[in-house]
Amino acid sequence: MIRPILKYGAPELQTQSTSIDRVDEEIRTLAQDMLETMYAAPGIGLAAPQVGVNLRLIVLDISGGEETGHQLILTNPEVTEQEGTQEAEEGCLSVPGFTALVERPSRIHVTGQDLEGNPQEIDAEGLLARAFCHEIDHLDGMLYLNRLSVLKRDLIKRKIRKLIRAGEW
Ligand SMILES: [Zn+2]
Repeated sequence: MIRPILKYGAPELQTQSTSIDRVDEEIRTLAQDMLETMYAAPGIGLAAPQVGVNLRLIVLDISGGEETGHQLILTNPEVTEQEGTQEAEEGCLSVPGFTALVERPSRIHVTGQDLEGNPQEIDAEGLLARAFCHEIDHLDGMLYLNRLSVLKRDLIKRKIRKLIRAGEW
């Protein structure tokens, strides 16, 4: 089931999410819904807070569903090592219509669990590293906007406030 994606301004997007101790049917359904919602958007990653659930769950597919073998579902993901920096244009399904240059580590090591509770260890670089960092930020109540300079952030926020006033957000 496709769920509505919350936009900038929703309190769930600014909330620290809770770890998942046990994966039950509800979380399985949530993960499935998040994949459907991500592919339909379309996007390459989605975090549970974006559909209004403050649990530490993310889904990723940097191929956007174009190729098999890229789909990732991870609970309690954590960046345990990082190296280098990369800068690229980044957007967010919760901030539709905007992009900005964001600096991220170029290589990371991520730990977490799959839906069976098995520990996962993933080395990621390039776009996948960027997508992981972006989605994990969501679990900590952070948007990529928080990583921009005050000047750039305020410019985007001003435009969003205008859209909100016009009833177009
Ligand atoms: Zn996002």
